[in-house]
Amino acid sequence: METKSVDLQAFRQEIRAFIEQEADESIREAGRKMTSFFPPFEQCMRWHRKLHARGWSAASWPEQYGGAGWSREQKRIFEEECRIAGVPRLLPQGLGMVGPAIMKFGTDEQKSRFLPGIAAGEDFWAQGYSEPNAGSDLASLACRAERRGDHYVINGSKTWTTYAHHANRMFLLVRTSNEGKSQQGISFFLIDRLDRPGLEIRPIIGLDGFPEQCDVFFDNVEVPLDCCLGEENQGWTVAKYLLEHERGGSASFAAQFDMELNRIRERAAELGDGFGGVLADDPVFQQRFTRLYLEVAALDATESRFAAMEKGSPESGPMSSMIKITAMETLQRITELAVEVEGSPTLTLQLAALTVGAGVAPEGPEQALTVMPKYLNNRAATIFGGSNEIQRNIIAKMLLG
Ligand SMILES: Cc1cc2nc3c(=O)[nH]c(=O)nc-3n(C[C@H](O)[C@H](O)[C@H](O)COP(=O)(O)OP(=O)(O)OC[C@H]3O[C@@H](n4cnc5c(N)ncnc54)[C@H](O)[C@@H]3O)c2cc1C
Repeated sequence: METKSVDLQAFRQEIRAFIEQEADESIREAGRKMTSFFPPFEQCMRWHRKLHARGWSAASWPEQYGGAGWSREQKRIFEEECRIAGVPRLLPQGLGMVGPAIMKFGTDEQKSRFLPGIAAGEDFWAQGYSEPNAGSDLASLACRAERRGDHYVINGSKTWTTYAHHANRMFLLVRTSNEGKSQQGISFFLIDRLDRPGLEIRPIIGLDGFPEQCDVFFDNVEVPLDCCLGEENQGWTVAKYLLEHERGGSASFAAQFDMELNRIRERAAELGDGFGGVLADDPVFQQRFTRLYLEVAALDATESRFAAMEKGSPESGPMSSMIKITAMETLQRITELAVEVEGSPTLTLQLAALTVGAGVAPEGPEQALTVMPKYLNNRAATIFGGSNEIQRNIIAKMLLG
């Protein structure tokens, strides 16, 4: 027991020293100014490449593909130290989503061709699932691919594709047959280049003035036959496996939420309650804080169980849905409490101060700068990756019968 804690202590020091040395100010600024799930792209990928050089970018992958071989405890310490230092979370589409799907369903050629670029942070993969009429009802997707000789020809469109304007690769669900149930006849494609003729990416500008999601159009786009991951027309199986990783989270939500709660507690100890005391001593605050603290502890326990589970098993699908529901609702409650704690300074939207590298100082307390954008942005957390209503349907169908 003692030896283990000494090891973990040394491990923590090693991580801390690395971050101290390698995370420059612009990487830290990007981390501090994260207001959504998706950190500023350029700084995030630079941090990814630095972690890769140390062998730590794909920590949760098996060692044979570049994983760090860490225990769950080590992974948690790593995430804690990253949060403490304020460095951005790495983008999940490659490491947490298509990477594990390629490991499970890919040919040797696909594994050796695609996995190293994901681990190294050289490639960014956008997720081409949703379409204008296929979000919750994903199986009704209409973007189609037809075989013509030695290639497929893709026609149709995708939407809400996060960071497609930064991507050089895309994983995509396409209809390759209209026979049978709608889940049949879907194939999972790995698109290796996005500069192919007929492929157009149009960023959608958000209310905050920044592009994050995109529309993607395919007009007779030719791709080779070997872009198919798994069997043709069997892409639904791959898609569901990938969604388990997306929903269950390959990283620990609990570790991230712990940090958010710590920040709230620190601020509550500094801010007045309006009656001469501090907010941290207010019984209503204490009750809400404790409730969230317990929710995060329960989430942590569920994530541990999920981490030990064989993915693709009968229990792991509903379990990933459970984590998605709990984690995203807890996150929304945390951001709500943060707004209430910081109070009126959160009401001013300070776009210039939020822009990484702009060098504009915030008006009012720095801690309040990201609180409202995070609250607003996280309204989408119960929608993306499959809405919570849909997750509840999955649990009802698969567990309750
Ligand atoms: C910030 C953000 C980022 C995203 N990034 C990506 C991405 O990178 N790639 C990608 O492919 N997609 C992405 N999406 C799309 C996302 O996965 C879809 O928005 C989501 O699956 C919901 O689909 P929809 O928007 O079509 O809503 P709809 O399916 O139209 O649903 C509207 C509402 O009706 C409810 N509803 C629908 N059907 C049922 C039902 N049967 N039972 C109960 N309730 C139901 C839903 O829960 C929801 O509340 C992103 C979305 C957001 C908001």
